Amino acid sequence: MAGQAAASRNVMANPGAWLGVLGGGQLGRMFCQSAQAMGYRVMVLDPAQSSPAGMVADAHLCAAYDDAAALDQLAAQCVAITTEFENVPADSLRRLAMSCRTTPSGDAVAVAQDRTVEKSWLQAAQVPVAPHAAVLQMADLDTCPDALFPGILKTACLGYDGKGQVRVQTRAQAHAAFKALKGVACVLEALQPLDYEISVVVARGLDGRTVTYPPSRNSHRDGILALSVVDGSVPATVADQARQYALRVADHLDYHGILCVEFFILQDGSVIANEIAPRPHNSGHYTQDGCLVSQFEQQARIMAGLPLGVTDTLCPVAMLNLLGNLWFDAQGAQREPDWAGVLEIPGTRLHLYAKTEARLGRKMGHINIIGATASQLRARIGRVCSVLGLPDA
Ligand code: ATP
Ligand code: MG
Repeated sequence: MAGQAAASRNVMANPGAWLGVLGGGQLGRMFCQSAQAMGYRVMVLDPAQSSPAGMVADAHLCAAYDDAAALDQLAAQCVAITTEFENVPADSLRRLAMSCRTTPSGDAVAVAQDRTVEKSWLQAAQVPVAPHAAVLQMADLDTCPDALFPGILKTACLGYDGKGQVRVQTRAQAHAAFKALKGVACVLEALQPLDYEISVVVARGLDGRTVTYPPSRNSHRDGILALSVVDGSVPATVADQARQYALRVADHLDYHGILCVEFFILQDGSVIANEIAPRPHNSGHYTQDGCLVSQFEQQARIMAGLPLGVTDTLCPVAMLNLLGNLWFDAQGAQREPDWAGVLEIPGTRLHLYAKTEARLGRKMGHINIIGATASQLRARIGRVCSVLGLPDA
């Protein structure tokens, strides 16, 4: 098709051109800001009247993600389109790709939308995953191997921040959990003996060239990412293995754009993939201040057909998530976190997403922290946590 040929042509789009993004959340906002810093204009499609990305975009199309007229308008205006939201309908991306460069493709995003499909793709790319079984009906829990217990029953689609997951010790508990999840398609995964967790952000250009960022070491609180640190503490063998696996996944998917692969490092030192995100990732926000070229600038460069940027960290760096909880005191009264106290600490930068309402567990922003050494970084993280009243992460 002529449209498809045009869409896949590897031509460079000069600054001033329009880039499009599906989704108006914080990832879209930070993408807009990076693209705009290079002189591109950004059009956001998001159904909400007001959104973090919508309020900084050069234009906002307020429409549903499957609104054909809005998608066609986006494709007509933009030289390239991306998504910041992995649950955007894959068919919307496929429609856009008929007439406009679309990165990533609807097919690649569809893989990440279903944990069962995702795991089989990871295995096909020869990347190890935890033992698991698809659970589509109650009977699947009777036939799955004993080795999957204790395990975690996860909904196959639409889970995030640990939502839609139940830890189960026995088959009987798994039956009850599947019922509680209303019988939606699930995956039962064997509980792994984790030592720690890391993730790797890959950028893969239109020409198939790739770069990977150094793995960040991630810690979670209440199922939500709390802190990502890149301070050289991941052993080189583990980091190299994870980067190789992430590249394999990107190549296997013939991926164009930014992709993040989350990994578990087991107590025996082995590296297994947990899941992939077809977009910039929360654990990659450190790249905004710890690298010359952030994951968001990389996303814009790929869309525009520009060369990929360097990914080395400039110094030890960390990213601390700011959840809505910080906007409430112990009595539940609203308050403003002590920004001056945080920014007084050398090496800190504040990134807020301009969300109008703080809610418990809602990602409101993050703080990037750099240090000249790993120990200076560690001390600064401790000081930031203490000013914010967080347990030392
Ligand atoms: P997010 O949106 O933060 O990526 P999610 O809802 O997609 O989360 P997962 O990444 O699958 O969920 O799991 C969330 C966390 O639960 C993991 O980061 C890990 O700490 C823990 N976890 C998940 N699966 C396993 C497992 N098989 N064994 C041990 N721990 C696990
Ligand atoms: Mg995860």
